[in-house]
Amino acid sequence: MCTEQTEMLLIIGPHRQPVSEAEAEDLAAQDTPSEAKPEDGFIAHQLSPSSWNRYEECPRKYWLSRQGLPRKASMPAAMGNAVHNSVEDLCNLDLTGRDEDESGWLPATAKAVLDRHWQIEKDNFLETPRHPRWKGEQITKAHDGLIGALNILFSKSNIDVQNLSEVTVGTWREVQSIVLANEGTLVSECGRMMGRLDLLVADLDENGESRGWIVADLKTGRPPSPMLNEKVSRQLRFYRDLLKQNNPNHPPVVAEGWYSANQTVHQADGPDVLEAALEAWEGMRPSATPLPANPGEQQCGWCEWKAWCPIWWAARRDGLLSPGHMFRDEVVQVVRFDREAGAALFQRMPPVGEEGELAPSDHKFGAVIRDQALTQLSELLDSGHEGAIFIGSARMDGRVAHLGDWCEVIPWSPMNEGHARDHSRWLRSNSDTVFDGIGEDGEASQSK
Ligand code: SF4
Repeated sequence: MCTEQTEMLLIIGPHRQPVSEAEAEDLAAQDTPSEAKPEDGFIAHQLSPSSWNRYEECPRKYWLSRQGLPRKASMPAAMGNAVHNSVEDLCNLDLTGRDEDESGWLPATAKAVLDRHWQIEKDNFLETPRHPRWKGEQITKAHDGLIGALNILFSKSNIDVQNLSEVTVGTWREVQSIVLANEGTLVSECGRMMGRLDLLVADLDENGESRGWIVADLKTGRPPSPMLNEKVSRQLRFYRDLLKQNNPNHPPVVAEGWYSANQTVHQADGPDVLEAALEAWEGMRPSATPLPANPGEQQCGWCEWKAWCPIWWAARRDGLLSPGHMFRDEVVQVVRFDREAGAALFQRMPPVGEEGELAPSDHKFGAVIRDQALTQLSELLDSGHEGAIFIGSARMDGRVAHLGDWCEVIPWSPMNEGHARDHSRWLRSNSDTVFDGIGEDGEASQSK
């Protein structure tokens, strides 16, 4: 109905697996033998928007994320994947032979697609070495997110939909016709930068004519208020600029964040970011020496690598980081443990120097331990572990710590030397470069 684009899109490896940049990076970090020798022209690492953000927040966090350490699953990420992949499947839905006027099919189809992806996410989540409790009840939120994303797609198609059950097969075909590509990987000409694109859609004017392309990133998290933050803006512009570089004859391109929670669309404006990304790429080279750390409340708050990072614990000692109020991270030695009662006495182990060495202290505190935390501590001690332990997110009630499903109990393992692997071997050897022509009706993007 709407597109005139005849440009070629360079999309590398539109695979379902891995589904996220983080997973691609994880596989890359784990799969390549450390003794691998660089080949001519081999690119030792690739920058993605998420690795770039991590590097900007704290280079040490980025460095630790490249050491093949066990990853931690999170509910927000699982929910985001389930919604993204459901939108993708619905955009690719094969409607061949279906009656144009058929209605009432979309709510049940959307639910079935989401249920399937929810189950896949649950399996992946539970298989991830570090994971909190799976919150199955959050499927309601995921369902709302999916509906929100579909509503944005309807509005981008200039279609007024009050109720999903009204949507006919013909209407959905119209929506599909504006989707030019989804879930492909964009790689820069130099091979140093990559990003996984959620959706590329035709930018329709009020007459249904295409005036360009929209690079859209689906967001299931909290919508911005009022503006996109710099991190998200930079990520969206990165996709925009990579797409433009891959398609020299591109029409006007805008980058948008689609927030499913409140169905708002936020456009990212601003200068090109690829030069800044290349500069960051230089600093992100694989190295056996840890990159500098940049401890701070924000970046350390949700950092999943604390058990391997000696810097935040030293920053706590030096008063650069606050201990936190209700929830605290601690590094301790077990003094006593009563498995039956779910109780323990811990001794706090303050840091000596900056490399993770610890000293005993007089500071002891009791803990009530339940569920996953109890299992983790029991298994750790049963395995013969005698060293210090990192406790993530203990809930403090006076001088007593409460540990449960929301906590992590893992060995304290400060990492002061790593490896300098090639991280992009997996990406390069498992990706086929494909050129997808975008036809007048955008059909090339609909086949699966
Ligand atoms: S805990 Fe803080 S200082 Fe350490 S890697 Fe994470 S963000 Fe950086």
